[in-house]
Amino acid sequence: MTTATHSTRVLILGSGPGGLTAAIYAARAGHAPILVQGMAPGGQLTTTTDVENYPGFRNVIQGPWLMEEMSAQAEAVGTQLMYDHIARVDLSERPFRLYGDSGTVYVCDTLIVATGAQARWLGLDSEEALKGKGVSACATCDGFFYRGKKVVVIGGGNTAVEEALYLTNHSHDVTLIHRRDSLRAEKILQDRLFANDKISALWNKRVERFVAGGEPEGLVGVDLVDTVTGEASHVAADGGFVAIGHSPATELFAGQLELEEGYIRVEPGTTKTSVAGVFACGDVMDRHYRQAVTAAGTGCMAALDAEAFLEEQDYLANVARHAMAQAAE
Ligand code: NAP
Repeated sequence: MTTATHSTRVLILGSGPGGLTAAIYAARAGHAPILVQGMAPGGQLTTTTDVENYPGFRNVIQGPWLMEEMSAQAEAVGTQLMYDHIARVDLSERPFRLYGDSGTVYVCDTLIVATGAQARWLGLDSEEALKGKGVSACATCDGFFYRGKKVVVIGGGNTAVEEALYLTNHSHDVTLIHRRDSLRAEKILQDRLFANDKISALWNKRVERFVAGGEPEGLVGVDLVDTVTGEASHVAADGGFVAIGHSPATELFAGQLELEEGYIRVEPGTTKTSVAGVFACGDVMDRHYRQAVTAAGTGCMAALDAEAFLEEQDYLANVARHAMAQAAE
């Protein structure tokens, strides 16, 4: 195990669109940032295939390719990319200290947290087997592929209802499957759902299995079990969208940064967290939009906020030095 220490003015944690955009801006501002990539370099976009909603590309692009390009751009403008997993963080005083599994200690004046979030899955073997072959956790990413087809959405919160409503742009037959008989989603969303004749709901149903079939193999339906009666049933579907919430990657910061429903709390309109000098961007602080392009947008904000913070610290240090010099005369 190495025991190197790396010091930097700007340390970025996470290599999705938020972290890499922050790196590009911080590097171009001359801060020579270090970006720690974590266990899954590239973040959630590396688990999608076709991307059609990231601006600037007329043709369909691949998520992993987009992340490789962003990563190469961040490096080209002066970011040092590190492959490491941060095990422990100490934000109790500046400079902050982060401890990597590799034994490396990262010391930084500002920290940008871009550790992202992961969609929650039901945890079924059949779900795992059909991911990318009909089973998805992102209607905005994959809904387009179900034009004119039959889809189901699993969940009863805001995300599930929004995904069901979004999917009616593509599909004429959307079924919401919920494990209880009432939704958790806000009333206004429920009203829209119930008013939409392309959507029907199945209550008190738990997904037992995603069913594969066809050639090439893909989703053909969902086996269900009634949570009240135990009765089994089946619904035919070409697409299955699991929308049972997201888990932001904030475990490292528990007790050190203020969280709100598990997400890092930021001062509205900024990326400032509850600790001065620590900024958060992307899905780890955004439970609403959760798009690659919004993560990139908040990544840019985080780099600009960090830069303003560093400038202020430099100014205050100069004033203090000046005052001490004057006092010594
Ligand atoms: P959520 O509110 O936690 O809802 C998750 C839903 O999935 C619940 O209906 C839950 O059922 C169901 N569920 C959880 N685990 C399940 C399982 N293993 N099997 C079957 N169903 C399961 O998550 P969310 O909808 O992603 O929303 C997360 C947060 O983001 C919320 O605060 C939400 O208000 C916010 N959000 C806001 C907007 C908006 O303002 N437009 C949009 C999206 C999200 P139960 O109801 O039975 O627990």
